[in-house]
Amino acid sequence: MPMEMNCRDLGFDCDGVVTGESSEDVLSQAAAHAQSVHAMTPEQVSDPSFVDQARSLIHEKA
Ligand SMILES: [Zn+2]
Repeated sequence: MPMEMNCRDLGFDCDGVVTGESSEDVLSQAAAHAQSVHAMTPEQVSDPSFVDQARSLIHEKA
């Protein structure tokens, strides 16, 4: 089931959409995106509150 997350929903002024084959795939891609595009640190993207927030924003790809 393809899944996606809109980066904007995380609070960034960003039109990026992270897609993956599963929620875990989207989460790992979102972590990579946040680090490369939004200069977040590995510590920030692995923080449980960030991970929980990102997980809650993932939805089935339309
Ligand atoms: Zn973004």
